Amino acid sequence: MKEFEISCPVGKTLSEEQLYSAAAKALGVARNKVASAEIVRRSLDARNEVLYRYRISASAVGETIEKYTLPEYKFVSGAEPVIVVGSGPAGMFASLRLLMEGRKPIILERGKDVHSRKFDIASIGQRQIVNPDSNYCFGEGGAGTFSDGKLFTRSNKRGDIREVLRQLVSFGADESILTDAHPHIGSDKLPRIVENIRKCIIEHGGEYHFDCKVIDLEQFNVGNKKSWKVICEGGLTFSAKNVILATGHSAKEIYRLFARKGWALEMKGFAIGVRAEHPQSLINKIQYHGKYQPFMPPAEYSLVTQVEGRGVFSFCMCPGGILVPSSTEPSEVVLNGMSNSMRNSQWANAGIVCSVEAEDVPEFDKYGVFALLEFQQSVEHQMFDFSNSLQAPAQRMTDFCRKIVSSSIPKTSYTPGAVSAPLHELLPLGVYSRLRAAFPAFDRKMKGFYTDDALLLACESRTSSPIRIPRNQETMCHVDLPGIYPCGEGAGYAGGIVSSAIDGILVASSTTA
Ligand SMILES: Cc1cc2nc3c(=O)[nH]c(=O)nc-3n(C[C@H](O)[C@H](O)[C@H](O)COP(=O)(O)OP(=O)(O)OC[C@H]3O[C@@H](n4cnc5c(N)ncnc54)[C@H](O)[C@@H]3O)c2cc1C
Repeated sequence: MKEFEISCPVGKTLSEEQLYSAAAKALGVARNKVASAEIVRRSLDARNEVLYRYRISASAVGETIEKYTLPEYKFVSGAEPVIVVGSGPAGMFASLRLLMEGRKPIILERGKDVHSRKFDIASIGQRQIVNPDSNYCFGEGGAGTFSDGKLFTRSNKRGDIREVLRQLVSFGADESILTDAHPHIGSDKLPRIVENIRKCIIEHGGEYHFDCKVIDLEQFNVGNKKSWKVICEGGLTFSAKNVILATGHSAKEIYRLFARKGWALEMKGFAIGVRAEHPQSLINKIQYHGKYQPFMPPAEYSLVTQVEGRGVFSFCMCPGGILVPSSTEPSEVVLNGMSNSMRNSQWANAGIVCSVEAEDVPEFDKYGVFALLEFQQSVEHQMFDFSNSLQAPAQRMTDFCRKIVSSSIPKTSYTPGAVSAPLHELLPLGVYSRLRAAFPAFDRKMKGFYTDDALLLACESRTSSPIRIPRNQETMCHVDLPGIYPCGEGAGYAGGIVSSAIDGILVASSTTA
């Protein structure tokens, strides 16, 4: 087995003949002695001629190759149950892993099934109605379902990443996610994949319960063994020895529940700022150095700088995407980005956010472990109070840096709409001053990024959880609560679809039978 790289101009197809000839050369064998030649990674290189760089794995006849086989899910109807709270990537992949290990996942989800959830999501944009249990963050599939579906992660546990990606393909994702350096699925395809995962779990004897918002956890004894009673709003209860808590970073009630019970929580830094929306054509022009052709994928960017001891960086960049209202309560304005699989809207958007630590907001010290959560909420409410609606306060990038309210604002993809606003006054000073310094710095890296045509909308605040539910590194259990397994983004141990899914797998494997 040998890995090597070849390139091919974007727009031209790499033929099988080219692939096998290159493999023969790399392996030093005749063309007819090549047993396999497989693309394992494809990345775009726009530095000079715009190329795809392919990483190829090839083997010669006679070599033994380890083949990946899809996991086998066991039938678990009568098996030991594990309660999984939340059906986001962490909860879904934890449940799939439980099936593999012969334990029965019982999934409790506060929101609706993915199909019904679509109607509530449409209501947010069209009628400005936010259902606190069914929105862009809550409901089957979790926050990743109506998203860009970007699947890259900084985590380097490649083996696990491949397990996640292979399973996503088996549930309907395009095979290209296995090789693309920056794989993404798109919000038009994700709901079907989420539905297929549910069908698989149910067919194998697992259970799904929608409209089941967990509001309490109580420990009780069964003989000399301890077990957990999980209480849902409305009174429904479920019991199991092990409970995986995969409720995401917006489930504030779960943090409040822990605080009420006196169970350990920790504060955790997060990042907050704005969404920047540029015309995609401008980003293409910058990133492809004026050589963009319509058959090329819409260009992406990733920017980072340090200002006054804090990182300012682009977050969840969506090429050819749209802005969405991801508020979970009616009185807050929270933005995020999503795109469909074609990424063909006229806009490029990304969060441009600044890291915040507790010492940056001393006025919130009185809230103890909730200081950063309260700070986050205060900014979200501030934006709502300005427009008195889900409309986003907005300002042209250049006006933002000059501290001028924009006399007009460009058209935006954000369906609730935008209102011209003094973001330089509405954002917390430390965040504003760092963003203000960052935009010209970003322009030095991407000439043309700092422009009158870019609109900033506030706020982008749900970048990660401002609270961690601490767990024992070895057992993965909550530090005080045997049998409770904090998991995924809400527990503060993951960020993004893939890393949350990986965390789900790790946690499920740690639950003891
Ligand atoms: C619009 C948008 C776009 C995004 N785009 C991307 C992207 O392109 N790529 C990427 O990697 N990440 C993206 N993200 C982030 C990503 O979705 C999250 O990192 C990921 O979904 C976290 O997974 P999780 O399973 O830990 O939590 P979540 O996905 O948040 O799932 C938590 C689940 O728990 C349920 N729940 C909450 N409280 C309770 C309760 N009390 N009882 C029962 N159920 C409960 C919720 O309804 C939800 O279904 C995006 C997020 C949003 C909102």
